[in-house]
Amino acid sequence: MVNVKEKIVQNEVHDPSVLRTAREIIENCSSPRLIQNEILNAVERNELWRGKECLNLLAPEAPTSPTVRNLLASEVGTRAAEGHIGPTQRWFAGTTHIDEIEALCVELLKKVFKSNYADHRLVASMVGNLAVYSALTKPGDNIMTIPQPTGGHSSNRYDGPAGIRGLNIFDVPMDSKELTVDLEAFTKKAREIKPRLVALGASMTLFPFPLKEMSKIVEEWGGKIFFDGAHQLGLIGGGQFQDPLREGACIMTGSAGKTFSGPQSGIILWNDPEINKSVTDAIFPALAATHQVNRVAALAAAAAEFLAFGQEYMEQIVKNAQALGKALQEKGVTMLGSHKGFTKTHQVIADVRAFGNGLEIARKLGEANIITNKNLIPNDKPEDWDYPSGLRIGTTEVTRLGMKESEMEIVADFILNVLEDKKSTKTVRNEIIDFRKSYQKIHYCFD
Ligand SMILES: *Cc1c(COP(=O)(O)O)cnc(C)c1O
Repeated sequence: MVNVKEKIVQNEVHDPSVLRTAREIIENCSSPRLIQNEILNAVERNELWRGKECLNLLAPEAPTSPTVRNLLASEVGTRAAEGHIGPTQRWFAGTTHIDEIEALCVELLKKVFKSNYADHRLVASMVGNLAVYSALTKPGDNIMTIPQPTGGHSSNRYDGPAGIRGLNIFDVPMDSKELTVDLEAFTKKAREIKPRLVALGASMTLFPFPLKEMSKIVEEWGGKIFFDGAHQLGLIGGGQFQDPLREGACIMTGSAGKTFSGPQSGIILWNDPEINKSVTDAIFPALAATHQVNRVAALAAAAAEFLAFGQEYMEQIVKNAQALGKALQEKGVTMLGSHKGFTKTHQVIADVRAFGNGLEIARKLGEANIITNKNLIPNDKPEDWDYPSGLRIGTTEVTRLGMKESEMEIVADFILNVLEDKKSTKTVRNEIIDFRKSYQKIHYCFD
């Protein structure tokens, strides 16, 4: 074994011991080819464990269909195409079929989301949000967005794209019991601040927002509503959540890899021709050049699946989340929003303080092959980030694997066995590996 010397790299953000293990692997392999094998092996280990043996309850994840996954490895992913669709607006020749693929993608997105315009080129919703802030605001503008403890996302705060754009960010007041906007407080504050843009949508998201009422208010000074539908995108497309573009939002972004269950990417949807040029200018040539046409093909294929199965699939996701929330509450876990039926989305939020902090609990569940995430909840402070009181649980993946309300009882039992130490994490893990054997097929697709 080559002994890897401790290399001190200043300000390295990654965990030094994990990087050290990687260096040891690289130095101990007798050829680059063997190093490559190590990569393939790690991918395979993940595919077996996360793909076949876990209960993946992470709210931002969704399994794609086999067709969508295969397209991610397609030849077209090695081709370069920048610019807008069509023979004259491309810089590179040879894009005839790429135009066909991209045009199908754009038109399918417009059809699924009933929008006049759609963009498919950005790799992530994070970048989509930067496009929106670049297009619709100027540095120094006031905006209002949701703070993290009540569900907001960094992309709309100082440490994300909104901050990079140099905006003054004020909090949208949230009602921490009702888990939605405090409309009265918002009205008062917004009239003082007169934000150019109000960003709604959240990462911890259980109930709809009073979009119509809020858009009436910001109209008083020509402000606009931007809906960051990263999480709810699929639910919106499947008609299971509010419909932001018809309730007053002028633009919506979304992560195609969350409830929409396509390849991870950012999509942008809007109706107003007035903002068309500024939005598309922010996409190209500002934030995207070559844009992974393999991903675009996969996105188009996912949109076609969505037309056929979206409504039924998304309806079941919400039913499963409600059933899981109810089952967990009945078995003794404090669930947020229990007085409102737990949720209208793919998520439920547990207050786990009775069992430990969110980090400990998520780790312990992870040892038992139950994958969730720690989450800030309304009474937490931003400095509780590392050790928050909540746990976020999502039902997208288990739904696509064919589970229904009755299975949510079983899932809740698995969780409780870990939370209450009724069984060892090893025992629960073995039970879950066994349980998952009956749920390996991806539903709601043509495969
Ligand atoms: C996940 C998320 C994003 C970022 O989406 P990516 O596709 O991961 O870049 C943005 N906004 C909200 C509210 C999110 O939850």
